[in-house]
Amino acid sequence: MADLRKDPVTGRWVIISTERQKRPSDFQIDTIVVKPDELCPFCEGHEDKTPPEILAYRNGSPPNTRGWDVRVVPNKFPALRVEGTLDREGEGLFDRMNGIGAHEVIIETPDHTSTMATMSEGAIEKVFWAWRDRVLDLKQDFRLRYIVVFKNHGAPAGASLEHSHSQLIALPIVPREMSEELDGARRHFQQKERCVFCDIIRQELRDRLRVISESADFVAIAPYAPRFPFETWLLPKRHASKFEDASRGEYAGLARMVKDILQRMNQTLLAPPYNLIVHSSPLQENAGEYYHWHLEIMPKLTRVAGFEWGTGFYINPTGPEESAEVLRKTKL
Ligand SMILES: [Zn+2]
Ligand SMILES: [Zn+2]
Ligand SMILES: [Zn+2]
Repeated sequence: MADLRKDPVTGRWVIISTERQKRPSDFQIDTIVVKPDELCPFCEGHEDKTPPEILAYRNGSPPNTRGWDVRVVPNKFPALRVEGTLDREGEGLFDRMNGIGAHEVIIETPDHTSTMATMSEGAIEKVFWAWRDRVLDLKQDFRLRYIVVFKNHGAPAGASLEHSHSQLIALPIVPREMSEELDGARRHFQQKERCVFCDIIRQELRDRLRVISESADFVAIAPYAPRFPFETWLLPKRHASKFEDASRGEYAGLARMVKDILQRMNQTLLAPPYNLIVHSSPLQENAGEYYHWHLEIMPKLTRVAGFEWGTGFYINPTGPEESAEVLRKTKL
């Protein structure tokens, strides 16, 4: 029998298909191996091949030259741009606004073949500081309502360049996935006067069925109703709604946890492509009491097909108790 489960935050239902239960070796995995590329625009020494940098952590070298740890540049083919004024108009039923926003690329390392699983914790932490610094800068623009920070690793996950990078898109609207989480978290708070994510952390740490890894300040779990096999959430134990308000110690703790989880996935799932997404409170919303920022990591092991597109329901062939156990027991 299949198991239908409801996500406690969004109320979204998923089908955990126990009859077609898949172990790591049952997936056809597109292992990601980063090959050297002399033409890569993100490599150190190729700074003139990107638009001029917006931010870089440098050891005193001039902008757009060698000698950096993390570099942020505008996307060459931006989905949205910062210039102009925000215009809203509609044609009857249909709403429309112009493409005000920002689309930036965070080049996470000067070294072409490093990945977030192999970089040092200190280097990963600097990437989080770059995300934070860009969010703090962009949120001064009151036209912007939401900033999504995400990472596509490997071509099957949507990366067009292999060199390790993440992206940031600032939007004049709150995306639907996000408002579903916010609405659910707000509802839970109104009923119970508690944060739903804090409740999840408490229950998962008590039950220990879906905990993958735990540190002083973070916990990594397989969520109760995951959409995808090996979907993993990284939650700070301290309640806070905004990624950019984390402490120095928390960024260091997050770097340690992200590296730990990616290493486990690399080992067990043969270096899979993945998406990593930061979920944080909208910019102009006071969600401090009820929302709880976190990271979601989704290894790309299956394809989303017609049923999912047609229903918004997901069929997941690996239960979270199994995936958590496999990742927890991975020897590093
Ligand atoms: Zn490169
Ligand atoms: Zn919380
Ligand atoms: Zn989330």
